[in-house]
Amino acid sequence: MNRRNNRGGGGRGRSNSQSKPPENVPVSKNEEVVLDIIGLTHDGEGVGRAEGYTLFVQGALPGERVRAKVMKTKKQYGYARLQELLVASDDRVEPPCDIYKQCGGCQLQHMGYEAQLSWKRQHVVDNLVRIGKLSVAGEVEKAQAGGSAKNKAAEAAVIVHPTIGMDEPWRYRNKAQVPIGMMTGGHANDGDGAASKLIAGFYARGSHRIIDMDDCMIQHDRNDEIVRAVKAIGRELGVTGYDEESGRGVLRHVMARTGFVTGEMMVVLVTNGRKLPQAERWVERIREELPGVTSIVQNVNERNTNVIFGDETKVLWGSDVIYDELDGIRFAISARSFYQVNPLQTVALYRKAVEYAALTGTESVIDAYCGIGTISLFLARQAGRVYGVEIVPEAIKDAKRNAELNGIGNATFEAGPAEVVIPRWREEGGIVPDVIVVDPPRKGCDNELLETILAMQPERVVYVSCNPSTLARDLRVLEDGGYRTVEVQPVDMFPWTTHVECCVSLVRTQ
Ligand code: SAH
Repeated sequence: MNRRNNRGGGGRGRSNSQSKPPENVPVSKNEEVVLDIIGLTHDGEGVGRAEGYTLFVQGALPGERVRAKVMKTKKQYGYARLQELLVASDDRVEPPCDIYKQCGGCQLQHMGYEAQLSWKRQHVVDNLVRIGKLSVAGEVEKAQAGGSAKNKAAEAAVIVHPTIGMDEPWRYRNKAQVPIGMMTGGHANDGDGAASKLIAGFYARGSHRIIDMDDCMIQHDRNDEIVRAVKAIGRELGVTGYDEESGRGVLRHVMARTGFVTGEMMVVLVTNGRKLPQAERWVERIREELPGVTSIVQNVNERNTNVIFGDETKVLWGSDVIYDELDGIRFAISARSFYQVNPLQTVALYRKAVEYAALTGTESVIDAYCGIGTISLFLARQAGRVYGVEIVPEAIKDAKRNAELNGIGNATFEAGPAEVVIPRWREEGGIVPDVIVVDPPRKGCDNELLETILAMQPERVVYVSCNPSTLARDLRVLEDGGYRTVEVQPVDMFPWTTHVECCVSLVRTQ
């Protein structure tokens, strides 16, 4: 799973400046230390200091004092395990999920929801200031060392709004991707043949060991139902779960997707090899157990990698897509296409993107990284013309179908890398955008694309981001090229995790 992000940035980067040579590491493995927790990393670990040396403590919150055992030391930082809470934070809550401690999916269930929302905003601010070198309103003093630049900075300071949270921050996900395996030897002696039992669950924190699970509190009930049913049917049909080490076993993953508005459900069985034994029986049993399913799909992944999907997708029964609606627009979504996982918050995010685009009905708008054309179609309702570009050909097929489905005639789509297609549009000269919207994956925008945006000189840029650090990096490039970051709206798309989505408005100043 890609939930645990790279460990490069965030709190760790900050500790570099305070690094000490290894011989000066003031703590040793297995030592118990008392730490005051002074921050939270982008992975949700508490940051403590022992004689200037940084220790990361999973499960500890800012403001807490903890007793922790040092588990691992590196040159500039180490890891310690929480042993005892000496002083608890007011923000601490009892995690409602029984498997929270083992599971890698959520990182902040021990933190109250309001506190999470303000931490997410602050996390965005910290990235904008530290990486983007931006002045943020209310943060000016922190950002400016001297007093002289204060007033100028205050004038141009970026407004970072409070995070838009959810009223009911549970069961928000429309998609589950669950690894499947076999129960391993450790459980072999429970007398009911469990040693060969198919399991479906989650990877234990920091590992690829699958722990069986039936209920995930951030999933839509129906996705949990699908996973339970697929597991039971697999067991009934004697299908084997995949074993990463040997590369053996048939079923690798089950993906469940539910349209929140339509109630339509898709089941994707990811198999190791093209053959799904008893495929017809599978279809029969899934339809019996899950009458709401409208699409049953097989995806073949024979590679020995962590990547969930392989290249070949075939429909076993029903439609190749499910339908869902966002703000009255209908979307066809195929198995391999990206579709935001939290539909309620997605509407809030997209409305913000449309607001920041400030359209009057005549504008030409480019939507880069458009997926199945979701933001494009929101924009198209208020623009002159929208041009979407996206790298996955299936998603572009969906996007075209979606425009048609909604009778939207002013949106066109092209498949290809944004950093190749948009520079070509520029050379050809036919498309002169008033607004460019970008919504890149975690790694942010390709530099070639940023350069092209600067060269095309749209009046406004709207940047939708799922990663504050690459957002901050890219905003710096746009600022240096003549744009001003005006407002940032964090939106909580992933409650109880450390992830935060942002919508940013920029205007051209030169
Ligand atoms: N705006 C869409 C999709 C956002 S996710 C939505 O809100 O639903 C980012 C998308 O960028 C994914 O669909 C991914 O396939 C696509 N993508 C990744 N790299 C790309 C590139 N170099 N050029 C164009 N699209 C890319």
